[in-house]
Amino acid sequence: MDRRQFLKVALAGSGALGLHARETQTNPSPLTTPARIVIIGAGAAGTALANRLVKRLDGVQITLIDPRCEHLDQPGLTLVATSLKPAHYLQSQTARWLPNGIEWLPERVAAIDAERKAVATESGTTLEYDWLVVAPGLVLDHDAIDRFSLDMVGQNGIGAPYAGPDYATRTRKAAERFTQEGGTGLFTRPATEMKCAAHP
Ligand SMILES: Cc1cc2nc3c(=O)[nH]c(=O)nc-3n(C[C@H](O)[C@H](O)[C@H](O)COP(=O)(O)OP(=O)(O)OC[C@H]3O[C@@H](n4cnc5c(N)ncnc54)[C@H](O)[C@@H]3O)c2cc1C
Repeated sequence: MDRRQFLKVALAGSGALGLHARETQTNPSPLTTPARIVIIGAGAAGTALANRLVKRLDGVQITLIDPRCEHLDQPGLTLVATSLKPAHYLQSQTARWLPNGIEWLPERVAAIDAERKAVATESGTTLEYDWLVVAPGLVLDHDAIDRFSLDMVGQNGIGAPYAGPDYATRTRKAAERFTQEGGTGLFTRPATEMKCAAHP
């Protein structure tokens, strides 16, 4: 499997490769390859890609590495903060979203050796790969916000749902208190295209 084939297989259906994606959709027969694919991160990106690759490739060896066993539905954080969904709606078992035929290694990757084509986990496991997908998400840096800290969430009219279900719930409670005390909420919405419909 060369680089072009890998990208076609990985991106088919996402629309990201335009013509390549359409080409692959019209010819959905799986590609046979003994390639070893390692995916770092079993969030929305890594999980979605693993499901896609399993459908498109035969004989492949896919290893997904992520120590987190619970999947967090990030868009749902705003739905919890606005009382549209309960907090437990956000969390599910990562294993539920993984396809058959892949291996999940519940460990944290500590190093990537691109020369040797190998990754090492914190516990010392080393895995060699032919293809590596790096999808570890983002780390939220709340401390970078001047004079803000997460322990403020839920008090004095401050809400911030992104740090997790607990903070989304605290935000919801603060908003509820605000309206119970007679407050009026003002929501704005840009008149442009938007990526995330949950926010407004
Ligand atoms: C409020 C909100 C609304 C949103 N609305 C939309 C929307 O409407 N449409 C849309 O497309 N997107 C939306 N998004 C964005 C979308 O949810 C994220 O882009 C997506 O969840 C990110 O997925 P990810 O797999 O890149 O990262 P994550 O889901 O963060 O997963 C990363 C994974 O990598 C693992 N990891 C990290 N470091 C390591 C390591 N060293 N070794 C092994 N594993 C590691 C973590 O444990 C984690 O499980 C929204 C986000 C938010 C917060």
